[in-house]
Amino acid sequence: MREYELVEKKVREYELKSVTCNKCGKTKKITSEDYQKEWEAAEFQSFSCSFGYGSKFDMEEWNFDLCEDCLEEIVNSFKIKPEGFKR
Ligand SMILES: [Zn+2]
Repeated sequence: MREYELVEKKVREYELKSVTCNKCGKTKKITSEDYQKEWEAAEFQSFSCSFGYGSKFDMEEWNFDLCEDCLEEIVNSFKIKPEGFKR
């Protein structure tokens, strides 16, 4: 048997302070509280790429953000547009 007691603990965690587009450098400072931070950052999209063994980018991991304008520009350069893209 295990007994538990509810205790208050001080937790240190990372909070989103700003988002910057890796392509154009546009930055948005995030000023709202808690769950609203993600809404405030919604005009940016985060991308994550993991390259496996034998890839041109062997074992590299890339993480970056793009603003909606840059994302639209990149997607407009696609020969085949993503499903759901309506522009
Ligand atoms: Zn941008």
